[in-house]
Amino acid sequence: MEKEVVSRNFIEQIIDKDLAEGKYETICTRFPPEPNGYLHIGHAKSILLNYGLSQEFNGRFNLRFDDTNPTKEKIEFVESIKADVKWLGADWEDRLFFASNYFDQMYEAAVKLIKKGKAFVCDLTAEEIREYRGTLTEPGKNSPYRDRSVEENLDLFERMKNGEFEDGSKVLRAKIDMASPNINMRDPVIYRVAHMTHHNTGDKWCIYPMYDFAHPIEDAIEGVTHSICTLEFEDHRPLYDWVVKELEYPFPPKQIEFAKLYLTNVVTGKRYIKRLVEEGIVDGWDDPRLVSIAALRRRGFTPESIKMFVELCGVSKANSSVDYAMLEYCIREDLKLKRSRVMAVLDPLKLIIDNYPEGQVEELEAPNNMENEELGSRMVPFSKELYIEREDFMVEPPKKYKRLYPGNEVRLMNAYFVTCTGYDTDEEGNVTAVHCTYDPATKGGNAPDGRKVKGTIHWVSAQDNVKAEVRLYENIIDEEKGVYNEDGSLNLNPNSLTIVKDCYLERSLKDAKPYDSFQFVRNGFFCVDAKDSKEDALVFNRIVSLKSSFKLPK
Ligand code: ATP
Ligand code: MG
Repeated sequence: MEKEVVSRNFIEQIIDKDLAEGKYETICTRFPPEPNGYLHIGHAKSILLNYGLSQEFNGRFNLRFDDTNPTKEKIEFVESIKADVKWLGADWEDRLFFASNYFDQMYEAAVKLIKKGKAFVCDLTAEEIREYRGTLTEPGKNSPYRDRSVEENLDLFERMKNGEFEDGSKVLRAKIDMASPNINMRDPVIYRVAHMTHHNTGDKWCIYPMYDFAHPIEDAIEGVTHSICTLEFEDHRPLYDWVVKELEYPFPPKQIEFAKLYLTNVVTGKRYIKRLVEEGIVDGWDDPRLVSIAALRRRGFTPESIKMFVELCGVSKANSSVDYAMLEYCIREDLKLKRSRVMAVLDPLKLIIDNYPEGQVEELEAPNNMENEELGSRMVPFSKELYIEREDFMVEPPKKYKRLYPGNEVRLMNAYFVTCTGYDTDEEGNVTAVHCTYDPATKGGNAPDGRKVKGTIHWVSAQDNVKAEVRLYENIIDEEKGVYNEDGSLNLNPNSLTIVKDCYLERSLKDAKPYDSFQFVRNGFFCVDAKDSKEDALVFNRIVSLKSSFKLPK
């Protein structure tokens, strides 16, 4: 019991306390994306945290588009965000909201502040407002318009709404304290004039609320209790609290900040991903090299693996950066027992079994996953001519090489022992085919006389197979050198994408569908690319290789 209490994160502890004190009856969290780009792995953390808390405490979880800023928002982004949140398994039920639907209430809230003498219309220019604001070490000065009467403020604010003033000529400011040590509290602007068309409200409004004013109102309207955001908003919390207090909400929502998730040397921020997309460096927001949620899904990551990843990261108030290898660890762990292990040859070299009957085909049974019998088995066709990986044969092998070389015997996975008898070359001396003989008594992969072989290699029938393209990925940024060059350009890794055409996969992959994933034995986990695959021309993304240097922290 005690142990459980200790292991609860700081947000859970705050909620425990709030519920125990009767501050709220039930909790409500939300995920409030601005629809100005696709979501990324950092957002996944926020989504799963907010949704997870709502589940844990039997509360509610809302999806709310924070679309109060009329310039940048796009319908494409709204749709992609909904798809991503759904894919992660966070269920907003019937609570899909748009902050722009609250513009009337926000306007009323501003009027209420004016009536209370807590807000005023200010005619200073943006430049002047900045000058009057003071600095971290010096207090600001009151605006000369600060003492306008309530009547005058109400009149001017209404005329702002009615479109009588130019953009930037007037703003509404909260009247708080120009000497506050927190600059956010020095009479912050809460409404501005902007003659812009909004994607939802059209031309109805020519004044728009500022984020710090709008967000607490959105939370309060929806009955959000715990408004979880990232650390950069910590200094804004006093203003959040001021807004909910002055507007006298009966159950004021509470802002809680946690540290953003960063991946070391991986482009995570929306702005930077956008830049890669807009500069055409990647194939859209879902390019499998990115860590947008759409990209992770396309590459073959599962919601479960991302959930495991964010849980391992934990929730804290200290900024830190996590290694990409941890994300790879999670997907390997998730797929290890769930996916079939099949044979696929990425760099084919022909293997000819000289003593195998011409024209004969045997259907050999292969277990789908040696560690999980529940996945059953499949039949793979075996015949005289096969493909093996080019690197599984060497003319002059180094000392510890256990695979095929003249005179050596190895096991063909799920099939027979074969002994290399020779090889063919072209005029330049390149190996074009390898010859061997098989031992019919070793069917299934074991010798009745008990003799052992040191190497086992995989293979694919040369007649009955599936040809496919395989894409191998590396980090898009050169890890050694960091994300940026000195001139501010991105430090791209020229090897981030390798396209391997003409790979041979075993026949069972013929009917693979977009997003299906498999372990290709010895080569890694692969997923059918949903964008570029055609029915008779499959494209596979390597999700992750099999080897890892990652160790789970204690
Ligand atoms: P970015 O920093 O990538 O530009 P953003 O914060 O501008 O993203 P929003 O749409 O405003 O994106 O964010 C929606 C929610 O996701 C916010 O509550 C924000 O705090 C949270 N969030 C954004 N980035 C991260 C991150 N790296 N880790 C955890 N939460 C994040
Ligand atoms: Mg933002």
